[in-house]
Amino acid sequence: MKISAPELAHAEGNITYRVAVESATGLQPLWFSLAEQYTELVSDRADGALAALLFPAMVRGEDIHVEGVLSERLYYNLSGRCQALLRSLDPTLKTIKIHAPHLASATSESTAKSTGVATGFSGGVDSFCALVDHYPRYNPTVVPSHAITHLLYNNVGSHGSGGKELFLNRYRALQPFVKTLELPFVAVNSNAGEFYNGLPFAKVHTVLNTTVPLVLQRGIRVFLYASALHYAKISSSGAGGTAKIDPLLLPLLSTENLDAVSVGCEYTRAEKLLRLTEVPDTYAHLDVCCASHKQGGNCSQCDKCLWTLVALEAVGALEHYENQFNMERYRQIRDRYLPEILLGDHPRSGELLTLAASHNYTFPKKARLFARIPLFLKGRQTFRHWRDRLRKQ
Ligand SMILES: [Zn+2]
Repeated sequence: MKISAPELAHAEGNITYRVAVESATGLQPLWFSLAEQYTELVSDRADGALAALLFPAMVRGEDIHVEGVLSERLYYNLSGRCQALLRSLDPTLKTIKIHAPHLASATSESTAKSTGVATGFSGGVDSFCALVDHYPRYNPTVVPSHAITHLLYNNVGSHGSGGKELFLNRYRALQPFVKTLELPFVAVNSNAGEFYNGLPFAKVHTVLNTTVPLVLQRGIRVFLYASALHYAKISSSGAGGTAKIDPLLLPLLSTENLDAVSVGCEYTRAEKLLRLTEVPDTYAHLDVCCASHKQGGNCSQCDKCLWTLVALEAVGALEHYENQFNMERYRQIRDRYLPEILLGDHPRSGELLTLAASHNYTFPKKARLFARIPLFLKGRQTFRHWRDRLRKQ
């Protein structure tokens, strides 16, 4: 795979960072595009392009030749340890060589003045918690070196088949709230996800999202990545996506100019939600939904919506978020959803039950009754199993 030196071009009010990618599958451009007003953020280094293409090259076992100027630190990390880490998560990936004759070893003149601290913002639990912890309006004690100055909204594959239209709809839905924060809200469109050949975004989101601040490292110095999992769940083995290795992977995607940092791993999702209930600005803007909807808002029936609603109810904060959810729909579904939590069948049952217990929340009688039915059936099956075995002896 050959990656050309990046070119920056202005057109129709946008600036586009573009490289040509020549690989076994042909010639294809890789690009990142954003509003021209953010031109001063855009780097001319090959760092973002290489980070975006490492995983696809490892899938195909293709060595990479980088023609542009590349961070020496990124070259060192991606050549060795980063590949070993990704392979421990996905052993089908192949180790490849990176050839990069133009390494930059120190902070270049063009990036020396970068001061930005950026984080992605989607209105979800993880990104809202990162904002609450790192924006001085919500946390006056945040250290200046990690106080958020820019919010990012990326289209690097997370919007699925909804593509650019869904990306823009979701971005516009968040704009009124972000305007009240008086922070730049930088929408970055890209075709980087197309190089992943249908691989689920959840499997590689950390890498793809970090390509954006790498492209913007002329103005962004720190990238705070809102991680989804608690430190206790961090592991480089077994199935799963890069969320399991965020705190290990992000330093390996950093350069002399950009520190990519995992934030939020000190909380469970339940603890993050509890933190958000203390911030009234979240009441009208929390968006946790995973359903593929075009207009934004919470469907109130997908797993993420239901888990959140139960957690909010358990801590007595449901009334604050009533306008963000369809409460009638929730009340219709709740008692059929709760047995899954009560029986421990849900991956986040434990933290929700702990949260409920710490707030002396009693689950509704009907739900507790439903929860006993599968146990009863399971008990009967066990009885029949042993009865049949004894008859055979
Ligand atoms: Zn939903």
